[in-house]
Amino acid sequence: MFKKILIANRGEIACRIMRTAREMGIKTVAVCSEADTRALHVEMADETVMIGPPVAAESYLNVANIMNAIKQTRADAVHPGYGFLSENASFAKALKKAGIAFIGPGPKAITVMGDKIESKKVAIKAGINTVPGDGGALSSADEAVKVARKIGYPVMLKASAGGGGKGMRIARNDAECRDGLKRASSEAETAFGDGRVFVEKYIEHPRHIEIQILADSAGNTVYLGERECSIQRRHQKVIEEAPSPFLDSDTRRAMGTQAVALAKAVGYTSAGTVEFIVDQDKNFYFLEMNTRLQVEHPVTEKITGLDLVEWMIRIAAGESLTFGQDDVQLNGWAMEARVYAENPLRNFMPSTGRLTAYRPPLEDESLRVDTGVCEGGEISIFYDPMIAKVISYGATRELARARMSVALDEFHIRGVQHNIGFLAALMGHPRFAEGRLSTDFIAEEYPDGFHAQDLMPDDPKLLICVAACVHRAYQERASMISGQIQGRQRVVADDWVVLMHGGKYDVSVTLRDGGYDLSLKSGSVAIQSDWKIGEALFQGDIEGRRFCIQVERVGIAYRLTHAGAEADALVMNARTAELQALMPVKVAPDTSKFLLSPMPGLLVSLSVGPGQEVKFGEELAVVEAMKMENVLRAEQDGVVAAVRAKAGESLTVDQVILEFE
Ligand code: ADP
Repeated sequence: MFKKILIANRGEIACRIMRTAREMGIKTVAVCSEADTRALHVEMADETVMIGPPVAAESYLNVANIMNAIKQTRADAVHPGYGFLSENASFAKALKKAGIAFIGPGPKAITVMGDKIESKKVAIKAGINTVPGDGGALSSADEAVKVARKIGYPVMLKASAGGGGKGMRIARNDAECRDGLKRASSEAETAFGDGRVFVEKYIEHPRHIEIQILADSAGNTVYLGERECSIQRRHQKVIEEAPSPFLDSDTRRAMGTQAVALAKAVGYTSAGTVEFIVDQDKNFYFLEMNTRLQVEHPVTEKITGLDLVEWMIRIAAGESLTFGQDDVQLNGWAMEARVYAENPLRNFMPSTGRLTAYRPPLEDESLRVDTGVCEGGEISIFYDPMIAKVISYGATRELARARMSVALDEFHIRGVQHNIGFLAALMGHPRFAEGRLSTDFIAEEYPDGFHAQDLMPDDPKLLICVAACVHRAYQERASMISGQIQGRQRVVADDWVVLMHGGKYDVSVTLRDGGYDLSLKSGSVAIQSDWKIGEALFQGDIEGRRFCIQVERVGIAYRLTHAGAEADALVMNARTAELQALMPVKVAPDTSKFLLSPMPGLLVSLSVGPGQEVKFGEELAVVEAMKMENVLRAEQDGVVAAVRAKAGESLTVDQVILEFE
């Protein structure tokens, strides 16, 4: 067994790999950039080597510096995690040459599978179902249109080197096909330095279901069931689960058998994932193989009881699998939600900043949190904005879902914008609960994005009660301070009006030991809670049901967050509520005469100039952020009055790019 493993990665995955290495009695080496010297993965490691400046290309992607770190620390193996160098065949080769074990597959499998055009060829040869379309690289827009027509619209233009949903465009007609080729190609060129694009049939309303495999160097290959990853945004996974609510055992076996056949066709060793797209009739088609540990691997670990990182390490050290296909048992249900630093109100643009508060829910047998940050840490512009993964487990899908909902309510993050409310709303969505999933789920159910304020709380009574309790506690303190109670606890009842979501509710609250007694029009309610002023989480019991609501004071309102809904509640006496109704409402400034940058990023190009007339939907500018090209389009017809930014300029959020007449 290895003595020391260097983890060529950062964030949650570096921490997760170290956890297993430590359990196996193996020493760990972290590498870090200048931006990460105080990161959690550095804190966890036995040793750390600084490998360069914050920009990933000069640190986490810098093979020479990482090779030096290996030499310096005498590590005998390297785990690449996911992203960065995990699917870089020349890194795997360099390690091989230096006699260092790469904890992953051989360079040949990485090369073949890293290229969507090549891997599709191999899959066809191995008799795997593939998406219609021969998958050859396109040399011109005319050729793209020709092939697309032959396949039949809609089609998907895909970068051969693509990954992470980049370099991918759907086209429903010739014009979109030409534009899609251009966009996919330039995005892939920027992100991967390889602009080759191919076209294949676009499968409508599909599910993304993938098979986890494990292969040792003695030729044993098993599949560990599937993961359903259909809840995606911009072709990026948001929620994953295992098993899939869609598969029957025959389809599972057929997919597993094909995944194993493909792995064998490329002499695969280590853990790997064969991704399929599955249509409404359960026809499945090979998408790609990821030759590394996946972000969503924990759901498979939860239902199989296996530690995938441990097996990757064992296999890399030459050990054979100690179990066969028939020994693989799938038990219970697991779900994973990816917590990102991003702003759901601004089309999920990445959000950066310091984590002024970071308190994940507590772990137990039914909850795992994989994280790479801690309170006070920084979410920078340099890396992926994923903060943590929440993994819930239960005997049934319903239990796993309920557990996830509670965990998300309990996850407290401040300092950066995040998607926890959105994840919680997804968990509570009736269609999600029914398991009617497709990769269009988010686009279909949230066509205008996610607005926590507009979401009607599924349990307004609970929110009304909590607002009243919180207010009662503040009143109690205020009266203590003003000396009216002179140190003696007095139990008093108070009548309040709660204004929330346009509604007006009469509530009376009595503070008592260990909780509150409330009386509403609809009846009386008892809430057990030992919440104290200043605590962000109001946890308690209502009618025997456990709940958690996040509470924050915003001006004179209490902002309550629960199950994805956000409500600003005002609590006042009846007379004040009457007067409140007469207060003028402040209107937001009109920004319709400006094109503002929706995110911090680079202004790649401007498509219009002063005096130019633009029509609704016309391309105005392209802004690149987090390696994604975002096309900003006209939201109405108009005339450009002035250009306020230059191509090549770095933009801040809300910076004016264009002014209209
Ligand atoms: P990446 O390597 O960027 O992750 P994938 O090939 O794995 O790209 O595809 C990512 C997602 O894009 C899939 O999960 C699916 O939602 C969508 N997708 C890819 N190919 C197709 C297709 N032919 N038809 C429909 N959706 C597709």
